[in-house]
Amino acid sequence: MDENKKWFIEERAKRAVEALKKNGISAYYVEDAEAARRKVLELVDPKESIGFGGSMTLGELGILPLLEERGNRLITRLEALGAERLRQRREALHCDTFLTSTNALTEDGRLVNIDGTANRVASMVFGPKKVVVIAGYNKLVSNLEEALKRAREVAAPMNAKRLKVKTPCTTTGVCSDCRSADRICNVTTIIDRKPGAVDMYVVVVGDSLGY
Ligand code: SF4
Repeated sequence: MDENKKWFIEERAKRAVEALKKNGISAYYVEDAEAARRKVLELVDPKESIGFGGSMTLGELGILPLLEERGNRLITRLEALGAERLRQRREALHCDTFLTSTNALTEDGRLVNIDGTANRVASMVFGPKKVVVIAGYNKLVSNLEEALKRAREVAAPMNAKRLKVKTPCTTTGVCSDCRSADRICNVTTIIDRKPGAVDMYVVVVGDSLGY
């Protein structure tokens, strides 16, 4: 990566990390995806059960097979459908560690997320003992207004397309605040400070990851 770009990303990410710490959240900056994998493996004990939310970042990192190989029990299975998928999502509310990314991370240390079923955003704030969030630098924004805009206008249409749902944004690429039955933007959360009963860790990565 170009040195100036790398410097800019790093400075911005470090501001977010410091802000997260002030908000009571344990936060780290790591240079790339490889360092992010190492950090996650360090933050998660091999004995812990793992829940996770649908996330391109986790897929790109390839972290789930690594956790499973070393003995972590994955509660959520990507191939599960229907009632079994719902059961797993409910069980994941009681996991030891919930892994996820975030739709946006502000430079003042807030996490903004949009969800359809809301299992992911629910698990981020209460239930699991620990939540580990991995955020590529592409998730960084200046403020709350930009974060809400990013979540709805950038992350949501791409996630809708990935999930193959029937919403206007999967055709146009633009959010029209639809009333579709398949709408994936039903619940928006803003984590301003560490949730009271969750140990929260955020790993900010100097690589672009996910949507
Ligand atoms: S069009 Fe509907 S599903 Fe797509 S981003 Fe907007 S509210 Fe979400």
